Amino acid sequence: MAIVDSHAHLGPCRVFGLNNTVDMLLEYVEQNEIDQSVVQPFPGAPDPRKVHDDIARLASDHPRRFFGLASMNPHTDPDVYFKEIERCVRELNFVAVKLHTIGHAVSPLSQDADAVFQAARDLGVPIMVHTGTGIPFASPALVIPKAREYPSVPIILAHAGYAIYTMDAYVTATECPNVYLETSWCTPHVIKFVIDKLGADRVMFGSDLCVNAPVEMAKARAIGLEGEQKDKYLGITAAKVYKLPDP
Ligand SMILES: [Zn+2]
Repeated sequence: MAIVDSHAHLGPCRVFGLNNTVDMLLEYVEQNEIDQSVVQPFPGAPDPRKVHDDIARLASDHPRRFFGLASMNPHTDPDVYFKEIERCVRELNFVAVKLHTIGHAVSPLSQDADAVFQAARDLGVPIMVHTGTGIPFASPALVIPKAREYPSVPIILAHAGYAIYTMDAYVTATECPNVYLETSWCTPHVIKFVIDKLGADRVMFGSDLCVNAPVEMAKARAIGLEGEQKDKYLGITAAKVYKLPDP
């Protein structure tokens, strides 16, 4: 069974003061036995286009191992925004797009957020929405109207509400069949709760940061997942939502 990390980053971040290098990514997949990793720029990337190109290079150097997820501040001209996301999906074969509610300071209900949902729909890819830290924009409930407005777009709630808002993420997912939860930074017992209640078809493993990958793997072990539930949570669900090829 392949392990898929649904949420990883490459490059620098001026918002959160982080930097993930290619060497760090290569090391973390080896050390954590991650078969496939979906990689995005940080919201504070000074040049997201360059990071998109770097991710595309990483993906082509390691076929079926790394995949790109486009992330750029949507507070710009909608045509400029769409052109870059279209380039990522159509030319660089990226598998999804990000709406970073805190890093880009964008409410899911704002006009600029709509450019992200439209791009996801028009390009036929899922959208990942940051949730949890950064209330009110990061409130999982704000995704409900958008999930209903864009029923064909799979929506992944990054961090599944970040533990403190995980029940809100859970309610959002019960209200909207096109909503999935990615559980990085959640506590073990809420991860177990959402997997048991929603089913492992709706919940996926994610690390967010290389240093957090072994921690998230330990949580998965701690909650005692077995069989199909474990396989879906650790890989199958993400592979299905992102439409990844077999590793
Ligand atoms: Zn992240």
